[in-house]
Amino acid sequence: MTPPGATIGIVGGGQLGRMLAMAAARLGYRSHIFDPHDSPCAADVAACHTRAGFDDPAALERFGAAVDVATYEFENLPVEPLRLLGAKLKPGVKSLAIAQDRGEEKQFIEGSGARVAAWHAIASLDDVREAVARLGLPVVLKTRRYGYDGKGQAWIRSPGDAEAAWAAIGGEPAIAEAGIAFDAEFSVILARTADGAHACWDSPRNAHRDGILRRSTVPAGDIVAPQVEEARQAALGIAEALGHVGVLTVEFFASALGPVVNEIAPRVHNSGHWTIEGAETSQFEQHIRAICGLPLGATALTAREVAMDNLIGEEVADWPRLVAEPGLHLHLYGKGEARPGRKMGHTTRLAY
Ligand code: ADP
Ligand code: MG
Repeated sequence: MTPPGATIGIVGGGQLGRMLAMAAARLGYRSHIFDPHDSPCAADVAACHTRAGFDDPAALERFGAAVDVATYEFENLPVEPLRLLGAKLKPGVKSLAIAQDRGEEKQFIEGSGARVAAWHAIASLDDVREAVARLGLPVVLKTRRYGYDGKGQAWIRSPGDAEAAWAAIGGEPAIAEAGIAFDAEFSVILARTADGAHACWDSPRNAHRDGILRRSTVPAGDIVAPQVEEARQAALGIAEALGHVGVLTVEFFASALGPVVNEIAPRVHNSGHWTIEGAETSQFEQHIRAICGLPLGATALTAREVAMDNLIGEEVADWPRLVAEPGLHLHLYGKGEARPGRKMGHTTRLAY
């Protein structure tokens, strides 16, 4: 057990790290952010910031010596240097290595027995053409690595799109996935401890636009509800197979065949931000509890309905109106420049 008073290292300094550090502070922990940027938004709420590259072994070694437990808040990290953190790193490198490569991820999820979209590994334009012939249309190409918020993806809706789609993703190693005609998207967010205890929150229904999450709502409604139990079993199977410690998020399509796994995130997730006010224990506090070996907190809803909306890019300029709305919970990430597509904050509304 890592008791309150200890220092938690967080690799990555974005809004997820910021909200983790805030939850850690409430439980009496100090946070130490490791991030190459000058002034990452998580460092504003943390005790320490190491400014160094994610591939800097000497800096990681010093960081590892300075913290009692370490975690990561995004996937696009080189795995090898993180091995220097040894057993202090929770979740371990396996969860990271699988989640950061869409090919490995798909294979692993299939191996765990869960349903995924039909897919093919892609290394050339010929592979793209073959995948289209085998999978039928539409198909979505996704780079194996570094994709997020719909980046690194291109849709093929007619056979003539293949070349342009391959060019659009930069001709990088990729996967091709059959487009799923889903009725809704939802996620299972769960936490697992080292001794195998686990807890799930109510699943939110997630609405995306242009590949970016816009809104998560709980309860998820009649389309999703009948699929949640099977999805939870699938997500738990994945967590067990990874030996995952901490929060794990599994994104699903609710389809006519049942729940189809889209992707996993070995961390707290945007579709779980509503838990800060909408659940008895937030995903951020739960992650801290899990990696520190504390008992997991209760996950019941605190309201009848919860809705979380992202503030993306210039939408954040609306904060004066939002902060004046009675009962609305406004979260601003302190990120500075509101570039298009950048997640700047979110709002949560509860109905009792
Ligand atoms: P990211 O890492 O950017 O979140 P995702 O694989 O989750 O990448 O894709 C982003 C969004 O694109 C999904 O939430 C979904 O709305 C849409 N999408 C992705 N793959 C498919 C698919 N196979 N069929 C239909 N829609 C998809
Ligand atoms: Mg996604």
